[in-house]
Amino acid sequence: MASSAAAFVEGGVQDACEDACSICLESFGDADPAVITCCKHEYHLQCIIEWSQRSKECPMCWQALSLKDPNSQELLAAVEHERAIRQSRIGVFPPEGYELHRVS
Ligand SMILES: [Zn+2]
Ligand SMILES: [Zn+2]
Repeated sequence: MASSAAAFVEGGVQDACEDACSICLESFGDADPAVITCCKHEYHLQCIIEWSQRSKECPMCWQALSLKDPNSQELLAAVEHERAIRQSRIGVFPPEGYELHRVS
């Protein structure tokens, strides 16, 4: 592994490691392989899908988010589509498992 990136880590830049997902900061592995965006950034599929529910931009460079792998992109689009439906139905998007405890 090249250590030339180490110089940048001194300043506290956390995403200097290219083998880690910038969303959860966990490294990639066989169980959690990386997916590559069209802007050439790598994330866990699970992470970028979760991210896509909050933002349509890449968290690294803020370009429009799309994935190189057509299957992954299709999945991402499907999740986004579902979010759009949910949003139009209820107006707001509470997180999964969110409960309203209303004391009357
Ligand atoms: Zn991740
Ligand atoms: Zn990017």
